[in-house]
Amino acid sequence: MSERAQQRHFIDQALELRTQEDRLRTLQPLNPGEDGIEVTRDGVNLVNFCSNDYLGLSHHPKLRERARQYADKYGVGSAASRLISGTYTIHTRLERKIAELFNAEAALLFNSGFQANSTILQALTDRNSLILADKRSHNSLLQGALLSRATFHRFNHNDMEHLERLLEKGTSRSYNRILIVTETVFSMDGDRSDLEAVCRLAERYEALLFVDDAHAVGVWGERGRGLAFDQPRVDLTLGTFGKAFGAFGAFVLCSEKIKQYLVNFCPGFIYTTALPPPVVGALDAAVDLIPRLEAERTRYHQIITTLRQQINEYGFDTGGSATQIIPVIIGDDRETLQLADFMEENGILATAIRPPTVPENSARIRLTISSKHQARHIDQLTKVLRRWNEG
Ligand SMILES: *Cc1c(COP(=O)(O)O)cnc(C)c1O
Repeated sequence: MSERAQQRHFIDQALELRTQEDRLRTLQPLNPGEDGIEVTRDGVNLVNFCSNDYLGLSHHPKLRERARQYADKYGVGSAASRLISGTYTIHTRLERKIAELFNAEAALLFNSGFQANSTILQALTDRNSLILADKRSHNSLLQGALLSRATFHRFNHNDMEHLERLLEKGTSRSYNRILIVTETVFSMDGDRSDLEAVCRLAERYEALLFVDDAHAVGVWGERGRGLAFDQPRVDLTLGTFGKAFGAFGAFVLCSEKIKQYLVNFCPGFIYTTALPPPVVGALDAAVDLIPRLEAERTRYHQIITTLRQQINEYGFDTGGSATQIIPVIIGDDRETLQLADFMEENGILATAIRPPTVPENSARIRLTISSKHQARHIDQLTKVLRRWNEG
């Protein structure tokens, strides 16, 4: 082998190992249909049960229309980062509208939740700080903690006693500050945290608190304002625009002071091109729309509860799910893949999630429900699951 080939051998090895483990991932392109719910892949129609388009806004006429308007008026790119010439009045107007909707002092736009999470934690800490994050936190938060120079520990999932022990230990050392990181709704299990309990601990140990509300904004809480709404003890709340908001980007809710601090010190905000005008347009329309979807949300929440009960009645384990994310936990990797194939053969698109994304022996089909799923879509899904368990 040449030296050059030898240097690159690790790539073949890693891919080979993944293949042997049957865990090699590949991209599977599809085309979304008119409503985004029915998709086609290789000419086959499928009902999508794995998208995060919770309110179906990605195809909403109002969002499309304003995206077009903004593209015509402001162009398709913002052509610079926010601190150079990329802050248009449409960006600051959107930030004001977001802050108003969420009753926050300030809002700051980011290009994605991943970019925000992976760079905010390092901005808030240094080598003398301590970060304590829930073990099931999203990978972007894990990356953020690893990129920081802070000491980093993870507390057992939703385990407040464990968190308190780590806080106590942390207080006895001379950290300059402690940052607690958690989520409201966890991505892989669809379960929730006890945010009030986390807030009480943050208060008692004088810690900073960062809460990722990505799966709740737009979906849960009065007027879709999420599950961290009106929790004054939360210092920073992250919301994404890529899920219920139907478009792209993210935002952080915080005080004016923290916003000013992030504008000056957060690399993921500073060193990147500002969100493009068509996206800002779509988001502007989404912010107008979301608080008005109360009736739709009520109906949506009922559909989720009924569906979860039905899946449980068929004998499937849905773990701690209390939201629109419903894991059908199978355990065994291969059996989970077989179920995913069976579902696809029967017109349902749902992805198998396997370790290391989830803990060993908890492979699952992760279902996500949209308010745009019709009764016939849900029927199709439940029939397929029932047939699998009978067969
Ligand atoms: C999706 C998600 C993110 C990332 O948001 P993007 O805007 O898609 O980059 C962050 N945190 C959680 C919990 C998520 O589910």
